[in-house]
Amino acid sequence: GFSCGIVGLPNVGKSTLFNALTRAHVASSNYPFCTIDPNVGIVSVPDERLETLARLVDAKKVTPTTVQFVDIAGLVKGASRGEGLGNQFLSHIREVDAVVQVVRLFEDKDVIHIGEVDPIRDLEIINMELIFKDLETIENILTKKTKMAKAGNKEAQTEVELLTRIKTSLEEGELMKNLELTPEESKILASYQFLTMKPLLIVANVSEKEITSYESNPLYQKLKAKADTLKADVLALSAKIEQELSELEPEEAREYLKDLGLEKSGLERLIVEGYKLLGLITFFTAGEKETRAWTIPQGTKAPQAAGVIHSDMEKGFIRAEIVSYEDFVKHGSWTNLRDKGLVRLEGKDYEIQDGDVMIVRFSV
Ligand code: GDP
Repeated sequence: GFSCGIVGLPNVGKSTLFNALTRAHVASSNYPFCTIDPNVGIVSVPDERLETLARLVDAKKVTPTTVQFVDIAGLVKGASRGEGLGNQFLSHIREVDAVVQVVRLFEDKDVIHIGEVDPIRDLEIINMELIFKDLETIENILTKKTKMAKAGNKEAQTEVELLTRIKTSLEEGELMKNLELTPEESKILASYQFLTMKPLLIVANVSEKEITSYESNPLYQKLKAKADTLKADVLALSAKIEQELSELEPEEAREYLKDLGLEKSGLERLIVEGYKLLGLITFFTAGEKETRAWTIPQGTKAPQAAGVIHSDMEKGFIRAEIVSYEDFVKHGSWTNLRDKGLVRLEGKDYEIQDGDVMIVRFSV
């Protein structure tokens, strides 16, 4: 599955947020793959369109799609130089597809921090650690590739030039995700798991008192300006409120949100933003037995999308019957859509669009 790693300095509210995420949604489990198991939470992606489709076809079972969040605790200043277990924690970031960085805006004298509340300092410390780690990776590759280049390997030569250029950018504090690269260069870099190459979302953990007024907090404004220079979005929430919400029954939680003057919970916004950050879109299957949301990366063609449902559907793909979500809602049923000739037949080159409702025709 696709995953977002939650990172940040100690005591900024990562675990509070992560626990709220996993409590409020499906299951959490541990990853078997590494020495220190970072916590992995699988959460369902809220999508009103799924509920609407299920209602229209009177579905017996409704299955949302999911996304993973990984709690990557333990990053501190000096992590890249191996302070504490820092280096191991940094390597966990390699395993995730996007980075959600939590910074602290809430004031609380009982919760120690490395100094005054200063989200920009926090952001810069973590980014520097990620940059140091990428520089270390580049040094290692350069050592190897320089030898190959000297021995006359043309590809290695190209790579050495590219990596040397990127090294300079990193040393100037630039994140790799913001580099302008040709498709060929992107392809070379994709084979390494650079940390600052990953999409980044900044979560501002604001004080519960400021949950509807944080935009007038100068610290928030500065953070937003800094994030703009990094081409990263900022999502504001209060981990404390999310924790409280996650302990309530759904009905009570809705009431509480309304009392706070909020339309959606921070978690709901975080999941949806995380999903977007990963470059994912949703298509649907709408049947009476089961109506379900499925996840694919943007740009996925029909047979590969069918393969997400079942590998046989990809192998034996003939064509897809496609209706847009809007058309489905407008006409209400497969029968109506067929009568009106609104079910499109699409072949193996069709690129699935967000919100497509699909039936796969395949041979076994
Ligand atoms: P982590 O080290 O980043 O995982 O931080 P934790 O989630 O463990 O939080 C550290 C401490 O800060 C805990 O005592 C939390 O209860 C507290 N905390 C987290 N978020 C908030 C918040 O939004 N407001 C307040 N007042 N305290 C918070």
